[in-house]
Amino acid sequence: MTQPVRWIRNFVDGEFAEPDGPGFPAVDPATGAEFARVHEAGRELVHRAVTGARAALHNGWADTPVRERTALLRRAADRIEARFEEFVAAEVADTGKPVTQARELDVARAVANFRTFADVIAAAGQESFVTDLPGGAQALNYAVRKPLGVVAVIVPWNLPLLLLTWKVAPALGCGNAVVVKPSDQTPSTATLLAEVLAEVGLPAGAYNVVHGFGGDSAGQYLTEHPGIDGVTFTGSSATGTQVMRTVAPRVRPVSFELGGKNAAIVFDDADLDETLAGLTRSVFANTGQVCLCTERVYVQRSVFDDVAAGLVEQARGLRLGDPLTERTTTGPLISPEHRRKVLDYLALAEEAGAKTLTGGGIPELGPELDGGSWLEPTLWTGLTNKDRPVREEIFGPVAALIPFDTEDEAISLANDTEYGLASSVWTQDLRRGHRVAQAMHVGMSWVNTWFLRDLRSPFGGMGLSGIGREGGASSLHFYTEPTNVCVRL
Ligand code: NAD
Repeated sequence: MTQPVRWIRNFVDGEFAEPDGPGFPAVDPATGAEFARVHEAGRELVHRAVTGARAALHNGWADTPVRERTALLRRAADRIEARFEEFVAAEVADTGKPVTQARELDVARAVANFRTFADVIAAAGQESFVTDLPGGAQALNYAVRKPLGVVAVIVPWNLPLLLLTWKVAPALGCGNAVVVKPSDQTPSTATLLAEVLAEVGLPAGAYNVVHGFGGDSAGQYLTEHPGIDGVTFTGSSATGTQVMRTVAPRVRPVSFELGGKNAAIVFDDADLDETLAGLTRSVFANTGQVCLCTERVYVQRSVFDDVAAGLVEQARGLRLGDPLTERTTTGPLISPEHRRKVLDYLALAEEAGAKTLTGGGIPELGPELDGGSWLEPTLWTGLTNKDRPVREEIFGPVAALIPFDTEDEAISLANDTEYGLASSVWTQDLRRGHRVAQAMHVGMSWVNTWFLRDLRSPFGGMGLSGIGREGGASSLHFYTEPTNVCVRL
């Protein structure tokens, strides 16, 4: 007997919609096996989601007192914790990421996102100025912040729940309604979140999920919809450009968290063990599929050989394998198409004369995992900033090691990119650490660490890496619109 099909459905105006087409497959990247069908939302369903969201605002969600909205965020955090392992299993099935990472990073951060934004919103004040007027009179200016309205939330596949809740928590907390478009490759956790938010009492229509692809599918239908008041988007720079074009005629605000080509700078006084541990995470975490991952490692010449040898040893120590096994450190790439893209960069690097210190091939992990999109952690030397693999975002478990001699040279090499997302500096000279970190043309600059986040601090990028910042007060600014009231006293 054949198994009944498991559907991952759209959540529109407080209800799961019945599938009305063939849908598309949800595939486990570790094995290549289909495990569910996803209901692709058509234009009509996206329209219902947007109008349902608008109705939720009018029906009172936008005017709900702040303490009720923040209490709801806290209940959502509690409820994700109560259903923690379900979220972990869903995230692992969609992405193939190691179960320990899904627990410690992805789902844990979703809980933290809801709690942090509850705190931030509860503590937020409002701007006010007393203005002195001629003759001793005064005026009072104060800004009331109102919800932006119906917000389109479009997210990628690499950290699906983490990135989604990073936007949904502040958006809902500020009184908006959201229509969420997860990546077609990772539809599960956004759908589970719909259940959780309904369980904790979010009104129908305030959170909607529409599944599908980008162009000529749910992503485009959503961004083209005239009922959208703003778009918060995380994804590639190319898609960001497209989304901006789509919303330009209606002049909607956008918040863009886009790609990166991030540099690490290792000085000769850095603590070697700590640096190697940090670099290994920064290059290979999530199989290199984090926008913050390091793909360019600039190392001071006197320690270049030691750092290269140490990093190779660490890369070889990574354990690829069944994501559900706790000792696994490294999962597959998200899809065969993405692996193809990364393999193309491997070929380009070879053409450019790179020396592959380790990796470069497809590992053999046994018949169970043969159908997965696996790739060996890879390190190169012999490339320069002129070569495409050093200029373009690859988004895989690969990095180029490049020597430098002076601090100035390191700064100019690191800043020689059209991207501007993140960087890390490794040194025991803290004065130099501050100096170099501040000289980086990026949104996030780390010293002797990487991906250490305080969710109240601003997050985002410069250049091709994005527009605007989210996190803490920056999120509240994006998800609200101020009306300044001026009263002559
Ligand atoms: P992507 O740009 O292909 O897709 C992102 C989302 O946009 C998906 O949901 C996709 O369906 C949707 N989309 C695609 N075309 C669209 C269109 N024309 N209109 C509306 N929506 C559309 O990115 P991806 O491959 O899913 O993710 C990887 C990229 O995301 C990398 O470039 C990575 O650096 C970036 N990223 C950035 C950050 C950050 O915070 N800066 C975080 C994670 C990932």
